[in-house]
Amino acid sequence: MHLIVAEKNISARRIAEILSEGKKLTEHKDTGVSTYSFGDTTTVGLRGHVVEIDFEPGYKNWRSEESTPRSLIDARTIKIPTERKIVALLQKLSKRADRVTIATDFDTEGELIGKEAFELIRAVNPKVVIDRARFSAITPQELKHAFSHTTELDFALAAAGEARQSIDLMWGAALTRFISLAARRGGSNILSVGRVQTPTLTMIVDREKEIEAFVPETYWQLSLDTEKSGERIEARHTHGRFLDKAAAEHARDRTKAPLVVTEVRFGEKQDRAPSPFDTTTYIVAAARLGFSAANAMRIAEDLYMNGFISYPRTDNTVYPPSLDIEGILKTIRTSPFKKDVEWVMANRRAVPTRGKKSTTDHPPIHPTGAATREALGDNAFRIYELVLRRFLATLAPDARWKTLKILFDAGGEEYTATGGQLIEPGWHTVYPFSEAQETILPPFATAEYLPIKKVTLDEKETQPPARYTQSKLIQRMEELGLGTKSTRHEVIAKLVSRKYIEGTPLRPTLVGRVVTESLEQHADMITKPDMTQTIEVHMQQIKESTRTREDVIRESRQMLHRAFDQLEANEAAIGDDIRGRTAEEMNLGTCPVCKGTLTIKHLRGNTQFIGCARYPVCTFNIGLPMAQWGFAVRTDEVCDKHHLNFVRLVRKGARPWDIGCPLCHHINSNAESLTEIPSMNETLAKKLLAQHIYTVAELARSTPESLAQRLDLPTETAQKLISDAGFILEKLRRRSDCRKFMRDHLIPRKGRSYAKILTALKNAGITELSGLVHADIAMLKAAGIGEEEAAQVLAEAKTVYYGQVLKEIGIPAVSLKKYVSAGVTSPEAFCTLPPASLSKLTGMSPATVQRHVELVCTYLKKPVPKKFSKLQIERGKKELLAIKGIDKTVIEKLSRAGIINATHLMEADAAKLAAETGIMAHVIQDFQKAIRKKRDNAVIQI
Ligand SMILES: [Zn+2]
Ligand SMILES: [Zn+2]
Repeated sequence: MHLIVAEKNISARRIAEILSEGKKLTEHKDTGVSTYSFGDTTTVGLRGHVVEIDFEPGYKNWRSEESTPRSLIDARTIKIPTERKIVALLQKLSKRADRVTIATDFDTEGELIGKEAFELIRAVNPKVVIDRARFSAITPQELKHAFSHTTELDFALAAAGEARQSIDLMWGAALTRFISLAARRGGSNILSVGRVQTPTLTMIVDREKEIEAFVPETYWQLSLDTEKSGERIEARHTHGRFLDKAAAEHARDRTKAPLVVTEVRFGEKQDRAPSPFDTTTYIVAAARLGFSAANAMRIAEDLYMNGFISYPRTDNTVYPPSLDIEGILKTIRTSPFKKDVEWVMANRRAVPTRGKKSTTDHPPIHPTGAATREALGDNAFRIYELVLRRFLATLAPDARWKTLKILFDAGGEEYTATGGQLIEPGWHTVYPFSEAQETILPPFATAEYLPIKKVTLDEKETQPPARYTQSKLIQRMEELGLGTKSTRHEVIAKLVSRKYIEGTPLRPTLVGRVVTESLEQHADMITKPDMTQTIEVHMQQIKESTRTREDVIRESRQMLHRAFDQLEANEAAIGDDIRGRTAEEMNLGTCPVCKGTLTIKHLRGNTQFIGCARYPVCTFNIGLPMAQWGFAVRTDEVCDKHHLNFVRLVRKGARPWDIGCPLCHHINSNAESLTEIPSMNETLAKKLLAQHIYTVAELARSTPESLAQRLDLPTETAQKLISDAGFILEKLRRRSDCRKFMRDHLIPRKGRSYAKILTALKNAGITELSGLVHADIAMLKAAGIGEEEAAQVLAEAKTVYYGQVLKEIGIPAVSLKKYVSAGVTSPEAFCTLPPASLSKLTGMSPATVQRHVELVCTYLKKPVPKKFSKLQIERGKKELLAIKGIDKTVIEKLSRAGIINATHLMEADAAKLAAETGIMAHVIQDFQKAIRKKRDNAVIQI
């Protein structure tokens, strides 16, 4: 069998579809992993890396004495399978194969992924022939060529990838651990440091500092408006920026009519067609259409996998001679851009444009197939169109502009106006994404006199440098050799997710800045791009086999050890610095009660809240959802009313949850419960707000004297308010218990929302467990709970709720357990079941049971069942046994229904007793007849 290993499932399928060429193609699923077979060939897709590099066991504990952050530098690494099912299937297939072709992506990463597959295959089949197919587009032509010209795996290239992995792991883990421990940060709050990430962050921080240090300079600009053929035209003073106000004013005052045309200069400008897309220029162009770098790459990869465009990770901006441009044009002629393709075919430039970089791995990004909007969806289609049009533009002629420059004289002051007109649109015909704009001026003649409509002197300020946009940053990273075409956008995404940078354009957060500055001060080599560039050079040397992987890693270890010498010596200073300066990022503003500082507090175990820095003197606080719903951070927005910073909950992989002003949120979410207090009224509500009392709980906690004073109320009114609040607080607690019960007992199911069920129950009047136990199954079903589940929920609710009630009544927990296991759960049962049966059922002494029964029945205001002594019970038993047909089993059944002697039995309602005991009614009637007969014959005493 010929096994083909692709980088992903989707490319495995595409490859099979293309190579099968009409042969029957079948898909098999093995433990969820698909394979595609035709003839003697099978293709299987990996999921990128199926193994990952990690430290050998023993380095997991961050606080271990032996495995310090520095020890990670020399720690040995191992490869661990991350996709076990794929690994197992790959090895199973390899055993049967007589040829394996690695067909992963054609770049360093793809070569490494191929090498990982190679090692897994060799481990189970040492003899099989393994070759490598390299292609830049998943199209019939490219694939056929690649599979008929297979080569060897490039181990040097893979080794470069491996070296990078090891170095990244070692630098990232050791430094992240060191800085986080020094700053005493853990969990989701760690401070990550990375080989490429940190110098990138430093660039953003440096730009921010430049902006802050920037002192704007005032300058003046002089212009005038004239009119020609009814059209208003603006002309600027040829001096440009005046730095001296007096000079500008002097020039303005001298500007006098008439305005005379002194010169008309015509010109022509060549506007070169753009060069082919490499990854960076592609990302920049996609950014203009509103796509983030990560999104642009994700979509491009999808288009590549599906055969619509070529491989999007490339540094090449020159089409290789082997690229079949004619063929591509023919293919995309069937796309919705037929008209544009045909225009280019008819108007082709002699040679396609070329950029500055020419590499041999991949061609520039170009279309490889015809796609439609319906097939791709809007976003992917826009990207496809961009790539296709760029390709067309590189084949289209240059554009030509006619330029016009007019010089004017007004009282000795010189002014000028310029215009531009596209006379040959050339490539602009097929590429509407550039910013070229025409300014068409009416014709002017020398010595012509014109009116001056207005003279304007504008005062302006010089602007600071702009913050980086994602695409500008990627360009800059490329210039500095930071990261690779495949990783740059991921590094930026990581900085955002680490809360080091934010916004568009990008700016550093306080933490981002503090960490950077601290590292700059104590180990600046980590923040500078030089070290990363050195490593890039080393990678190149490994690729060219002039250095070994081990050698490069050894040198990197030494570099990192030197950094640690510096860091460890300053550990305390670094920690204090970061901790001290980042505390500020949690400050929200002034406490409404005491004018202290309100801060977000994060405690262990996911608890977070907003508290006053003057605690315990001031106990003002605002609760926040648990941190698993999102880690609370401050944002830049400030509440107009409370002057507090807004709060946002951020969670990895989820949309952030904006709480807004925490105090507004706090007031709003407690407003409804406050109105439930019976003695509440509008005046009182206003007074409470003014006194910063926002919750029922705060009211309930107050003392009558202090509340009376704060709200200016009689003490009795305050007392009433407090007890009312206590009552409502209890009710709120019971409601929250009920909500928690439903959350805990309803199985999470896709498409079902707890909120919906809770609302339906609320509408049916059920907000507390006491209501729930009296609900029926139909009602729960109507609220969206399945029948079987509803029965379970009800039974469970009864156990929980009655347990609470009985506990409250005073039944000790140990006894409660015994009652529950005997099936006695509802308090009512205590007043209906005879105590003797209870005693028998639970194994507790009659005296204990009697005490419990009295407690419960008094609480329920029901008559306490009659007490029977042991003697009475024994006597009753004897009486009953004397009746024909009554044996021990019957006595047991009767006693459960409260029948312990003949009198009880005789007075009982036969039908009801039958239902309770399971003894047939006519049998009971027979017993009753027998007793009556005996009574008629003799006197029976009880
Ligand atoms: Zn306070
Ligand atoms: Zn507010």
